[in-house]
Amino acid sequence: MSGREKCRACGRKLAAQAKERSPWYPFCSQRCRWVDLGQWFDQKYRLAETKGPLGVPEGDKNRANGDKSERK
Ligand SMILES: [Zn+2]
Repeated sequence: MSGREKCRACGRKLAAQAKERSPWYPFCSQRCRWVDLGQWFDQKYRLAETKGPLGVPEGDKNRANGDKSERK
């Protein structure tokens, strides 16, 4: 019976038909969308940072991008 979905960042209920009408789906707003994205990005950045002062090698970067598209 609970048709309404919730924002993945703040848990607020999404508007009816948010899936079709909201550009921020599955979030309630642009802000929440960026919050979630920011957390994800931050984790990635920290992982890369622990690898060493020189950063991520070129091959690793490509692999990371592949990971991203596979997950969605
Ligand atoms: Zn939200």
